[in-house]
Amino acid sequence: MNLAFITPAAHKQADSFSSSTAMLKNLAMSILKVTRLGHPVLRKVTENISVKEIKTPAMRKFIDDMIETMKEYDGVGLAADQVFTSKQVAVLEVADNPRYPNKSKVPLTVLVNPKITPLSDEMEEDWEGCLSIPDLRGRVPRYKSIRVQALDRQGKKLDFVAKNFHARVIQHEYDHLNGKVYLDRMGDFSTLTFLQEFARYWMKK
Ligand SMILES: [Zn+2]
Repeated sequence: MNLAFITPAAHKQADSFSSSTAMLKNLAMSILKVTRLGHPVLRKVTENISVKEIKTPAMRKFIDDMIETMKEYDGVGLAADQVFTSKQVAVLEVADNPRYPNKSKVPLTVLVNPKITPLSDEMEEDWEGCLSIPDLRGRVPRYKSIRVQALDRQGKKLDFVAKNFHARVIQHEYDHLNGKVYLDRMGDFSTLTFLQEFARYWMKK
């Protein structure tokens, strides 16, 4: 899921080269190519991952690369099928960002084989974008409060309640892992807008 208006790639690069530690860290990770809508992998239900597989060096590296890719493109979440890998893993993080003062912070989280259960029927509509559907956003109804059960990147059980924007990000990524995108959840497309028009006509609403 992506909520950035503009990708500030240039300033990010300058930041990372300003510290040798950051540089070494960047050398160990890769930015992955992001799948765009229309690629069949985005419409497949992804495969479960065993605890044994979670602990392999290849999966650890893949999860690191997913985190790096999400950050590079200013996403707040990324699912494995968005980087051409049909497996049940998603990453999310909502960092303190002056451009989204009304969004609560969510720490970096890795969800493996997630299951979600709505805690009430209450739904809320808000804007969503997606790295796999570039340049667009629209208003999407989501459950306000959900229970999340998953494994973390060490294979340990997670069981927590997520609310509001946190719950929204998880539902968006969970949908990806089940072959759905946010467009499938929109009641109608009357709010679907390009980012430039979003900034011009919708931002103050
Ligand atoms: Zn998405």
